Amino acid sequence: MRTPFGEIPVIDAHTHFFSHRFFTTLAAELPGSPPERGIYPALRQRERLFWEFPDPDPVRLGKRWVAEMDRHGIHRMVLISSIPTDEESVAAAARAFPDRIIPYFMLNPSADDATDRAKRAFDELGMKGLCLFPAMHCFHLWDTRFTPLYETVAAHHGIVFVHCGYLKIGIRDRLGLPSRFEMRFANPVDLHGVAKAFPNLPFVIPHFGCGYFRELLLVADQCANIYTDTSSSNDWVRLMPYPLDLSTLFAKALEVLGPERILFGTDSSFFPRGWRKDIFDTQIAALQALHLPPSQVAQILGGNIARLLGP
Ligand SMILES: [Zn+2]
Repeated sequence: MRTPFGEIPVIDAHTHFFSHRFFTTLAAELPGSPPERGIYPALRQRERLFWEFPDPDPVRLGKRWVAEMDRHGIHRMVLISSIPTDEESVAAAARAFPDRIIPYFMLNPSADDATDRAKRAFDELGMKGLCLFPAMHCFHLWDTRFTPLYETVAAHHGIVFVHCGYLKIGIRDRLGLPSRFEMRFANPVDLHGVAKAFPNLPFVIPHFGCGYFRELLLVADQCANIYTDTSSSNDWVRLMPYPLDLSTLFAKALEVLGPERILFGTDSSFFPRGWRKDIFDTQIAALQALHLPPSQVAQILGGNIARLLGP
């Protein structure tokens, strides 16, 4: 992509694959009996056409994301299956477009079959990253029950994406679904012992820690295998008791983590909005304000995630 820093192959390290099955699973949470005339009419009633419901064929949804990447000049994209048990959807899209789509999957590690599921996801479905949401599924990252799970990801040279911090899922709110999340599980500090125990396993904490910026810096300073991503509007800064803006986040993250542990992301998720060019532009402006050398910008915009994924 042509950027103010020159031609850079951009890889978005954080977007979501809101598949047909993702919506089907959400619909099953709606109160009352499941709608008989299909899920979308029932969901549509609630969301008032804010987003388009995806094609039931995940390959066609994948094709749409590839067209979106082409439109914006994006090289590759991490797409996350964003509800447990939906890994098949993004796997099908990634099989169809292996050079463009990097598949990650959300897992509830407390599920009985979690480790087997993860093994299958990496072995058979070609997944590259495991996504954990401690506040959503109410578990501590340091729980020794999950050691076999971390061992599985490490054995497959995968990446662990850990959504720590403030958690709000807009799509659930719009559908009126309850979000029984617990912030006591959300602290990046929970990752300290685990990251130390698995020094070769990369852990990515998105959104600059999403409200736990200080805690992110504290653990990342002690664990070289902790990364952050820059995704979303990062509007959590409005909750901080002191002024904080995107340039400040970048500057401090660069100081503590260095340019090789920051991954560019947007948190794009649905159509018709598509890829969040606005987020990209805001981040580019913040990087320009810091007068970063193009080589460091290239690391952030794609070089780092490419290195973590390996050949
Ligand atoms: Zn996200």
